[in-house]
Amino acid sequence: MERKPFIAGNWKMNMTAASGAKLIDELKPLVKDADCDVALCVPAILIPAMAEAAKGSNIAIGAQNMHWEAKGAFTGEISADMLKEYGVKYVIIGHSERRQYFGETDETVNKRTKAVLAAGMTPIMCIGETLSEREGGITEDVLSRQLEKDLEGVEDVTKVVIAYEPVWAIGTGRTATDEQAQETIAFIRKKIGELFCPKCAEKVIIQYGGSMNAGNCKGLMAQPDIDGGLIGGASLKCDFAKIVNFDK
Ligand code: PEP
Repeated sequence: MERKPFIAGNWKMNMTAASGAKLIDELKPLVKDADCDVALCVPAILIPAMAEAAKGSNIAIGAQNMHWEAKGAFTGEISADMLKEYGVKYVIIGHSERRQYFGETDETVNKRTKAVLAAGMTPIMCIGETLSEREGGITEDVLSRQLEKDLEGVEDVTKVVIAYEPVWAIGTGRTATDEQAQETIAFIRKKIGELFCPKCAEKVIIQYGGSMNAGNCKGLMAQPDIDGGLIGGASLKCDFAKIVNFDK
């Protein structure tokens, strides 16, 4: 089963309209011949300017969160229509930083994921275990719970991108080994097969995220179940192009 690789950057709370547009201008020629899908998930306020900067290129613009309601009294949140107005294609949902620092739960991740799908965009739904969970030998239990709850009621799982991001590898410089990432992502695919159907699981794009960079991307991307990367720190510089061009 052919799955098109997908490399997405997560700028988190970094960059400004000026520095972001400059980086996108520099990246455009470097990634134009990519064989994979490419996206940059930028802070909400930068979406209009980054959409303009990326116009006519193969860089899609994504958001980092989205509310499940269409509108209303939800101070600080952002709606599907607001994102779609600027051509946003992808929305990161349930990033571990949102789960850790902003009270995101499996229930809200589930609501947001379904709302992104209903709006015709693609959720990049993040799951992953903490260091103590890995060391406690409960990684598979944690991932199973997240997949069951976060995907509950999703009709077409093939429209969801899953980002497997071990929390201990995010922003720490400590990457999962190729084997660890492969083994865990193969488990995730098997679990999706059980929850939905094996054929659907074969179609689902599953990214690895956690200190992925120009140096380690080739080994990770060579693994049979790893279809891409969600890249934090390394998406803030031109090195991101080297990850996008991992196969060149
Ligand atoms: C992320 O923010 O999703 C991430 C993987 O960050 P980093 O690449 O910096 O570890």
